[in-house]
Amino acid sequence: MHVPRRRFGQNFLADPHYVARIVDAVAPQPGDNLVEIGPGLAALTGGLVARAGHITAIEIDRDLAARLRTAFTPAQLALHEADALEFDFAQLGPELRVVGNLPYNISSPLLFHLAAHDALLRDLHVMLQKEVVARMTAAPGTADYGRLTVMLQAKFRIARLFVVPPGAFRPAPKVESAVARLVPLHGEKPAIADEGLFARIVAAAFAQRRKTLRNALSAVCTAESLEAAGIDPGARGETLAVADFVRLANRVAPLR
Ligand code: SAM
Repeated sequence: MHVPRRRFGQNFLADPHYVARIVDAVAPQPGDNLVEIGPGLAALTGGLVARAGHITAIEIDRDLAARLRTAFTPAQLALHEADALEFDFAQLGPELRVVGNLPYNISSPLLFHLAAHDALLRDLHVMLQKEVVARMTAAPGTADYGRLTVMLQAKFRIARLFVVPPGAFRPAPKVESAVARLVPLHGEKPAIADEGLFARIVAAAFAQRRKTLRNALSAVCTAESLEAAGIDPGARGETLAVADFVRLANRVAPLR
């Protein structure tokens, strides 16, 4: 018996219907470079290993890591007992296929960490709190559209696949979950001259959503720069498309 650890976001998937749906959505093939984040009690791991032959996994909980080592051979599972937030995914690439029923308390930082490795990735299938998936897939001008949306949509095509109810987990979480697929844009990715500046502009534009861009971005660019990029300084950040943020950041970059 494993007592679930709340600090590691341990809500284990226990419904075979949803296990099968997730594994089918990933559609592993022999030879795929699959990495599972947080395999836990191996609900997904068994199906992934059965279809891919071999996978890599990263698990922070040492008791669960010990169980995984007895349940799978090293030929089936290359296990890293590590914190996925600190993990250097570059050592596993290229063509990485990431799968994870992610701990909700670290989902945004983990997505940003993975986005920093987008060149190495083939795709990601992640289960997250339903509201987080709504933010990832949001359109401009909606309440869900924000920093997470713009930072991820600048690098990935994102789709919500299906919703998973709390009753599919043990213990049941308080919220609904959803599975999302993220596919890197690679060659279609907008060219961003200075990623750090882009991130700062996006963060500032959404830090206080009610502010106009003229005020929200006053520390990073002038109203003239906004106008030169074809953006109304009186507009709010939530009305700008991802391409508008890219155009603005690229116009400001050489001025700094
Ligand atoms: N994949 C399993 C499932 O679907 O039942 C477990 C999912 S549970 C929501 C999250 C898993 O991620 C747990 O096994 C937990 O120990 C692990 N975990 C939590 N934080 C982690 C981190 N920073 N790095 C790696 N694994 C982590």
